[in-house]
Amino acid sequence: RAKEGGRNQVMLYETGMQSEIVRRLAMERDLRDAIEQEQLQMYIQPQVDRFGKPVGGELLMRWQHPQRGMVSPAIFIPLAEESGMIIRLGDWVLRQGCMAVCALQAAGIPMSVSINVSPKQFRQADFVDKVKIALVDTGADPALLILEVTEGLLIDNLHDTIARMLELTALGIRFSIDDFGTGYSSFSYLKRLPLYELKIDKSFVQDTPQDANGTAIVQSILSMAQHLGLRVVAEGVETRAQAEFLIENGCHSMQGFLFARPLPLQDWVTQQTAATREDSVRRLPESGTL
Ligand code: C2E
Ligand code: MG
Ligand code: MG
Ligand code: MG
Repeated sequence: RAKEGGRNQVMLYETGMQSEIVRRLAMERDLRDAIEQEQLQMYIQPQVDRFGKPVGGELLMRWQHPQRGMVSPAIFIPLAEESGMIIRLGDWVLRQGCMAVCALQAAGIPMSVSINVSPKQFRQADFVDKVKIALVDTGADPALLILEVTEGLLIDNLHDTIARMLELTALGIRFSIDDFGTGYSSFSYLKRLPLYELKIDKSFVQDTPQDANGTAIVQSILSMAQHLGLRVVAEGVETRAQAEFLIENGCHSMQGFLFARPLPLQDWVTQQTAATREDSVRRLPESGTL
């Protein structure tokens, strides 16, 4: 009996594994079609300064799957990384980023545009050329483009990574370390890389101001960044208490549901154009002052 039970368990496990593999294969195949069939969309989430004024925005990919509905990038990005599809997705995002820079500038909305660049994408031999071509084709101002990279990029080939970052920096592009503090942080890379900004991961932000350790970590990041001459943006800001804490401790900009959820780029342009036309002072949620 015990033996039978054991066998059944194995069978169940195998069935589970098989359906997982089938599901992943299906999703990989679908992802291949997603670009051509225009199922991918770019959303933007604004980053605001201490007065609540939008100064930048992060582009976040969305996949509207015909049967599955909205698939989260937290699911399909890792899958795309493993299958190599991230290269094609990344090419698309790069172009969308440049087009967003142009669209915002044309609408008179002064904002930088941050895009996420995966390590595999960054390490392509022709990545710098792709960036140059995208800039030339679209006419986007490189000074308005920020590339978000993760600490994972810095694990190996640091020398090559720095060389490549310098090439891109020479074009006017800026770099931000995304999810700062969650990866293989090392102080030595901070002084060697041509960085513009650190992006404090939401897991730390969400510990403030109630958790003593989380608070200490955020304060340390802010003070270190200040001494290194780096800007800091906090992600995942959800409460007024978090925003107040961040501002008091010198954080330059904030991104999170407190200010805005990610929304389609075009909706943001329309909304901002209307706001400018009404000549309205941009207000923070609720009371308008922090
Ligand atoms: P990320 O780059 O760290 O982006 C921040 C994530 O936090 C986004 O999730 C955003 O929607 C979410 N977020 C923003 N504000 C809040 C908040 O106040 N509270 C909470 N709980 N979450 C908040 P999203 O859009 O689901 O993206 C997940 C991840 O997928 C991104 O994390 C990024 O690593 C990756 N990703 C998204 N778009 C792209 C892309 O175009 N290219 C690449 N390579 N990766 C992407
Ligand atoms: Mg990001
Ligand atoms: Mg992030
Ligand atoms: Mg994150």
